[in-house]
Amino acid sequence: MTGWLVIAGLGPGADQMVTPEVAEALAEATDVVGYIPYVARIAPRSGLTLHSSDNRVELDRATRALQMAQQGQRVVVVSSGDPGVFAMASAVFEALEAAPQYQGLDIRVLPGITAMLAAAAAIGAPLGHDFCAINLSDNLKPWALIERRLRLAAQADFAMAFYNPRSTSRPDGFGRVLEVLREECGPQRLIGFARAVSMPEEHIVTVTLAEARAEMADMRTVVILGNSATRRVGRFVYTRRSAE
Ligand code: SAH
Repeated sequence: MTGWLVIAGLGPGADQMVTPEVAEALAEATDVVGYIPYVARIAPRSGLTLHSSDNRVELDRATRALQMAQQGQRVVVVSSGDPGVFAMASAVFEALEAAPQYQGLDIRVLPGITAMLAAAAAIGAPLGHDFCAINLSDNLKPWALIERRLRLAAQADFAMAFYNPRSTSRPDGFGRVLEVLREECGPQRLIGFARAVSMPEEHIVTVTLAEARAEMADMRTVVILGNSATRRVGRFVYTRRSAE
């Protein structure tokens, strides 16, 4: 049997947002590898082994997936959203760099709908002009770097999407982010909080920075900040495609 390794994104949550090519890879897989809540989204079936692990062991998980593919298994490494956005694709390539014996393997990355795009669609079109995405977790980078990128992006008038905004182990950082944004963007700038996008418990609200509170975000929320031209139209929020 010829093994392969697919690194796939499962989208934000709804089954309809899993792409057909990802569904096909999952249907052909012998093994699915990933963080516990993402693997839990895969329906068990005979011939398929599910390997769930904790979030903090990404490199071990990636190396294990490479080993299984080398042994002839058909392995799908799953992430939520897109696998290249703050997720497993980079971890697999980091493991591959450290283990050249796997570099001849059949490896493919299959994109998924990332949280910020599903959230932006639900809100309207807040990312219609130039934007950037920032991971607010300081697990893998120093806080000073997050704050520097935040200020420079705000000064450049990017709209922004914030992933991993606030967790129980990092309850205070997001309040500081809001302070920096109020300083740089002023109190009237629009900011959207999109929680559990595409799932039954989806909750989306857009407020001004003056009204924004840190408690509006948690680890299931992606936060979208508009740029200086972002405005409301009816129940939607959008950013004009032109800038002067
Ligand atoms: N690879 C994923 C992101 C992983 S980081 C992607 O492309 O979407 C995890 C963060 O993604 C969460 O803390 C949250 O900010 C965001 N996120 C993932 N799914 C989400 C959803 N359904 N609704 C809102 N935010 C989500």
